[in-house]
Amino acid sequence: MTVQIPQVTLNNGVQMPLLGFGVFQIPDDQAQQAVEAALEAGYRLLDTAAAYENERAVGRAVAASGVPRDELFITTKLWIQDYGQDSAKRAFDRSLDRLGLDHLDLYLIHQPFGDYYGAWRAMEELNRAGRTRAIGVSNFYPDRLADLITHNEIVPAVNQIETHVFFQRSDDHKLMREHGVQHESWGPLAEGGQGFFDNPVLVDIARAHDKSVAQIALRWLIQREIVTIPKSVRPERMAENLDVFDFQLTEDDMARITGLDTARSHIFDHHEPEKVTWLGGVRFAT
Ligand code: NDP
Repeated sequence: MTVQIPQVTLNNGVQMPLLGFGVFQIPDDQAQQAVEAALEAGYRLLDTAAAYENERAVGRAVAASGVPRDELFITTKLWIQDYGQDSAKRAFDRSLDRLGLDHLDLYLIHQPFGDYYGAWRAMEELNRAGRTRAIGVSNFYPDRLADLITHNEIVPAVNQIETHVFFQRSDDHKLMREHGVQHESWGPLAEGGQGFFDNPVLVDIARAHDKSVAQIALRWLIQREIVTIPKSVRPERMAENLDVFDFQLTEDDMARITGLDTARSHIFDHHEPEKVTWLGGVRFAT
């Protein structure tokens, strides 16, 4: 049975599935198998990045799957070392080549550091030329997002940021709403940290709906109209994470989950200067 995944409409009219499959930390030699399994399970949105070093495997899986290209929504991301207008365009070509595609659905600036203004101008050109249907950013805190929007022509279609029950991003969400930027969550299961799967509130709500903690956490994002991209290498979990469209969290469930917010990052805080410096030095063979 094919799962019907609802879509959201981005600020340029492009439709994007509300739920997709992320491939961070899946090594290149396992990613083809994982993505083939995900496509078989019914995922149509795939989220990779040049920095994940598995674009080739994602491309092989897409080719092997036989899923028509126009049913897929493929995102990749530009890494800091390739920011600047000319290098960004060259990096885009290399990503497309590794993916074996002639266009992307969404191209994201991976991090808000370095010459991301130059990168954004390249993205605007790529978007206008129809080489990527939408462009967006990732890990942009509200101040940087507001600045980028103020000084450029195209408003990012998406901002992909760490978002889960322990870091709910309500202010970010409000600002994105005001500017027509779609909120996309990375790390929707908090990468399993902070006792995520044993959290008493989540366990209790899961029991009441006969669902798993992962399904409750994903459903909570979906009910906030946040696109999300859980990662798993296990087919049974891929299926579980997709099976979130046959129930509704009540207002009381939503309010109890709101109470879990710690309003701070648990995975990677982009405000920490030493992390910013570290990211700026990370290089990938591209
Ligand atoms: P997630 O929150 O999706 O957690 C993934 C972890 O949860 C894995 O260890 C996985 O293990 C486990 N898991 C998945 N499903 C279940 C389940 N149903 N029950 C129990 N455990 C489960 O973390 P990610 O960091 O991977 O985030 C998702 C995606 O977001 C990434 O793959 C990537 O595409 C994107 N991302 C983007 C970032 C950015 O800077 N823009 C940063 C980080 C992620 P297993 O595989 O063994 O099942």
